[in-house]
Amino acid sequence: MKAVVFEDYKTFPSLKEVDKPTPGPGEVLLKVAGAGCCHSDVSVFRDYTPETGKQTKPPFILGHETSGWIEEVGTGVTGFKKGDAYLVYGPTGCGHCKRCVAGEENYCENRATNKSLAIGLGRDGGMAEYMVVPARNLVPLGDADPIAAAPLADAALTPYHAIKAALPHLNGGGKYALVIGLGGLGQIAIQILKALTGATIIATDMKPEAMAKAEANGAIVVPSDENEVAAIREITGGRGVDAAFDFVGIAPTIAAAQAAGATGSRVTVVGIAGGKAEFDWYSKPSEQELMGVYWGSMPELHEVAALYRQGLITPEIETYSMDNALDAYHKLTDGKLSKRAVVVPHMGE
Ligand SMILES: [Zn+2]
Ligand SMILES: [Zn+2]
Repeated sequence: MKAVVFEDYKTFPSLKEVDKPTPGPGEVLLKVAGAGCCHSDVSVFRDYTPETGKQTKPPFILGHETSGWIEEVGTGVTGFKKGDAYLVYGPTGCGHCKRCVAGEENYCENRATNKSLAIGLGRDGGMAEYMVVPARNLVPLGDADPIAAAPLADAALTPYHAIKAALPHLNGGGKYALVIGLGGLGQIAIQILKALTGATIIATDMKPEAMAKAEANGAIVVPSDENEVAAIREITGGRGVDAAFDFVGIAPTIAAAQAAGATGSRVTVVGIAGGKAEFDWYSKPSEQELMGVYWGSMPELHEVAALYRQGLITPEIETYSMDNALDAYHKLTDGKLSKRAVVVPHMGE
């Protein structure tokens, strides 16, 4: 079968012919419906080195936001029907620590000794015609479209986790949420905030098209420039926002999120650009929390799938055949995608 393989550090992935995998005990073989191209894949093939960790040592097949249809089950696996559609929960923890048994494999306590970080990040992912996944990582999609669902596994789960963790700050009337960075995750964040809270949503970006999309999704948009913090504070009546979500994560966006926050607000940095945050007692709002998040839990992916099946979150996608998968990665690397690229290995079948 064809697959997109991360073959070596600092090397663009290749499209190659590999063996079709066989499910082991407790595993399932999926016929891949969709595999989303995520910006963290670019970090993997452009930035990773042996020092990044043995869990992400090449070679392996990329694709950590995937969906597919049951093709075959391994020994000991029951309760699945061939052809049923599932979303794949990516993180692969040890399976037995306190975090893993709670479905929080993204925060596995034994991460340092695990073989892989996730399906598609260390072990073979879904950028292929078929993939093998542990049966417990499957989230049912029912009759919802599995191809458009693929990005939910990361591009919706990550903002969902950040927003759900911030809900105590957004419960009640008269609350304000700020979304910084209106790419795929930021746009889905607006949909999730609308579905889960009654907060007024303020969104910032530099691209007019992204701002227009956010406005159409129900956000008040503020252009990202030197006046943005003053403009955001004015919308909130001077008080500041109750929760801010930074999907960029560079020093200036983190600083803007902190400065736009109310007393007791929460700033969640989701973007992995590595920006440094500053703190000083005098200028920052009192009792403001600053936190980073990584992906989300398995129960949360079930909740994301429920929102998708209800039509409350809809990822914007553009599809690519397996033969054009590398084009999608080139466009992603060059910043030329405005929607999530989803590779559809069985397009037209
Ligand atoms: Zn990702
Ligand atoms: Zn664990």
